[in-house]
Amino acid sequence: MKLSRILSNQNGVSRQQAIRTIAAGQVYVDGEVCTDAAREVSRFESVVVGDQVIQRAVAAHYLMLNKPAGYLSATKDKTHPTVMELVPGELRPHLHIAGRLDRASTGLLIMTNDGNWSRRLTEPAVKIPKVYRVKTLQPISKETEQRFAEGIWFSWEGLTTSPAAIEQLAPCEARVTIFEGRYHQVKRMFHAVGNRVTSLHRERIGGITLPAQLPQGAYQSLTPAQVASVR
Ligand code: URA
Repeated sequence: MKLSRILSNQNGVSRQQAIRTIAAGQVYVDGEVCTDAAREVSRFESVVVGDQVIQRAVAAHYLMLNKPAGYLSATKDKTHPTVMELVPGELRPHLHIAGRLDRASTGLLIMTNDGNWSRRLTEPAVKIPKVYRVKTLQPISKETEQRFAEGIWFSWEGLTTSPAAIEQLAPCEARVTIFEGRYHQVKRMFHAVGNRVTSLHRERIGGITLPAQLPQGAYQSLTPAQVASVR
């Protein structure tokens, strides 16, 4: 919400009064004077005028989890355990998942209460690289590399996937980088070239890499630099 609107939302404060107070340098956003009435202020920032707190900052949470196989990327499920069971109970009602992993898939899963931030992370148009270590049933052919680079036609969505890169690690193992995060995307891409994914582990999303020392089922907070890498 614009800073002027946050101020004028208080009883008896007009938009003009709000703009004058801001221009006079009397308004602090997150502890710093802000003279821009049009500044967009999130719920994660505080707004103070003199000694009056107009808006208290909500704590922002950005977590990465090393997802084990068998856990659903969902908030609730009657049959299977969900990834929410792996984070502290007091955070659960506030968090959402930024880019799901299938139940059998493992690795980097990000959870946050910041919807604007997670939208940038998952929006296909933003083209943030997502890196997966993949094992397949059949050897991965040279043709697969070419087909992935050209993009694979997804008839459900009526679109061609963005060019994806393959780094072959073994005959049936590769590191695959995709730039969207469509439903079962990696599995469907291999299926389209007549192969089958037998294991899928997400290693990285943009500037956020799953640390090798983070055990399966454990989580940690993202660093400020990792959070900022998505902005
Ligand atoms: N692509 C898939 O097929 N599954 C995942 O869990 C993630 C990407």
